[in-house]
Amino acid sequence: MKLYKIKKSNIDKKGLYASKDIKSGARIINYKGKLITNTEVEQNPKFDNDKDIYLFDINKRYSLDGDFSWNTARLINHSCNPNCEVDGKGYKIWIAAIKDIKKNEELTYDYGFSYDEDYKQFPCKCRAKNCCGYIVRSESRWRISKKFKKYSQINK
Ligand SMILES: [Zn+2]
Repeated sequence: MKLYKIKKSNIDKKGLYASKDIKSGARIINYKGKLITNTEVEQNPKFDNDKDIYLFDINKRYSLDGDFSWNTARLINHSCNPNCEVDGKGYKIWIAAIKDIKKNEELTYDYGFSYDEDYKQFPCKCRAKNCCGYIVRSESRWRISKKFKKYSQINK
């Protein structure tokens, strides 16, 4: 039995949800895609403007392009307080639970976007208590929180 099901999501149009209780550490779904060379990534305009939402670094030479409808794992949304992570060994990429997940909870992971001037294009709607309002990897979120703080002080 699959551990996930596709449902309408509060974060985005669609998402993946736990179809039963999942234990922390369990592998939930294989992240499928096409293996492409990093030279292709640099040359293909498809990867130009957008953030590489569906692109995973495999190693120095290869990346995995998961931007295909048959890659069900692409429907998993970002959260600032995720219950899954991307767990990759070699060319096999898995979405694995990092917490015990209850049936019907939405599955999420940290997209790991870097912090740059583009971050405002990617507002986050995860509603987690620690949400910084944008999809930015956890290590860089303090930069945004700092900005928010400055802003709220000015407006006091
Ligand atoms: Zn968020």
